[in-house]
Amino acid sequence: MNKIRFIIISMITVLLLNTSVFASNRYINITLTYDYQKHNYNAEEVFVAINGEKLTGLTMPPIILDDYTLVPAREVFESIGAKVEWKKDIEQVFVTYGSTLVIIPINSDKAYVNGQASKMDTEAKIINNKTMIPLRFVSAALDFKIEWDSKTRIANIITKDIVTTTTEQSTETTTKAITTRKEVTTEATTKKPQPVTSANNEYIWYDYDNDALYIKNTGIALSDISEQDSYNEGKYIVTVNKKLQTSNTAFTPNSEYVESCTVSVGNKTTITFNENRIMAMDISNANGYICLKPIPPKERYGKIVIIDAGHGGSQPGAMGNDIIEKDITLAMANSVKNKLDSDGRVKCYMTRPDDRDVGLEERAEMANDIGGDMFISIHINSVENNTEANGTETYSLYPNDLGNGLTSYAVAEEMLDQLITKLGTSNRKVKSNTYVVLKANNIPAALCEIGFLTNEKDADIMKNGVDKVGQALYDGIISLFNEYPPVR
Ligand SMILES: [Zn+2]
Repeated sequence: MNKIRFIIISMITVLLLNTSVFASNRYINITLTYDYQKHNYNAEEVFVAINGEKLTGLTMPPIILDDYTLVPAREVFESIGAKVEWKKDIEQVFVTYGSTLVIIPINSDKAYVNGQASKMDTEAKIINNKTMIPLRFVSAALDFKIEWDSKTRIANIITKDIVTTTTEQSTETTTKAITTRKEVTTEATTKKPQPVTSANNEYIWYDYDNDALYIKNTGIALSDISEQDSYNEGKYIVTVNKKLQTSNTAFTPNSEYVESCTVSVGNKTTITFNENRIMAMDISNANGYICLKPIPPKERYGKIVIIDAGHGGSQPGAMGNDIIEKDITLAMANSVKNKLDSDGRVKCYMTRPDDRDVGLEERAEMANDIGGDMFISIHINSVENNTEANGTETYSLYPNDLGNGLTSYAVAEEMLDQLITKLGTSNRKVKSNTYVVLKANNIPAALCEIGFLTNEKDADIMKNGVDKVGQALYDGIISLFNEYPPVR
């Protein structure tokens, strides 16, 4: 009996040894700490490769929990070239690749792909102080393919870049795109206004090739010229403090920025540019001509912020404790605008200058169209049947980093800090939500809920603190622009 048992045990041992020799895989046995508990993890090792290149030296190995592979977010996805940000306050991982943003909250099976909620098969977790996210879900969301090799136990991530550049057709497209862009750049630089002669000896004429209006300089100094940027009315008005003569009083340029241009001559000469899109003006005085050239706002202003006073017109927003949301948000927006205007370092645009209806998408599109550096929306919170809820909270959604490192989250965080410090309201933290003004924005954007008008104390703070809100936002904007100077 003993002999037979020995033989059987020996045979099983040999079989087991052989099996593990053939598989040639290592088992890892480590202690994992997550969900406030220690877990013993003993399983066959798995690996991650990117386009066939195995990742080595990971400080935390990929692990399989409930049949799904979790990988260290930063180490794996930054190796692919994605941007990985850990938002501690809101316990969310932001993974950005190209134009796709995947937001993965910890201990939740919900994720957001470009703002759209979707369900994951498993939850992301903090394991041994590392954010571990589901490999398959995040890869698919970023449009990567995964090839699993059960022999080598390698999950190979195939990125779309490799796939596209290896085909001849797409290489051709890339080359074409670059050439086109170069051509446009060359065109733009050679199209700087050059002095041109007027037809029929006029004093004012439009040069359609240079897309600029010229005034023959008969003793005009730049100090005789004033500008009025009425972008909310779609007009840019230039006034020359002199009586000028011209028989040309209307022009229709074929311009990206100007739909039409009218000249009104009196004791002063008023030139109105009716805008196709929001523009700035380059005014120069050389070679005997004053030249008014419409240019993109970014070419003139080094720092641009768009302030959005929530609601307006037929949309009053929340009301209570003697506050109407649309009125107080406009007062707060005006306060920050006045401070920025007298400072002069930052160009400030307002989505609405007064009590009027402006669509939510229109507000974000305005910021995108201008090509601003920062967007801040001002709102007042309220809650039904609860007078206790109080405090300040801010929101961000996509990072929208324009290349200077400033993200929407950083804007939301800075504004929150400034607001709670200056108002003394309680801190309800930075949050994330798919509000239209955040979702449709391409530039760093934050939405501020200043306080609750349904709470008496918050309502008093806000009624007496319009200027404090203006100061908080102004200080935040200046400090962010110092830390993250815009790239031009
Ligand atoms: Zn609101």
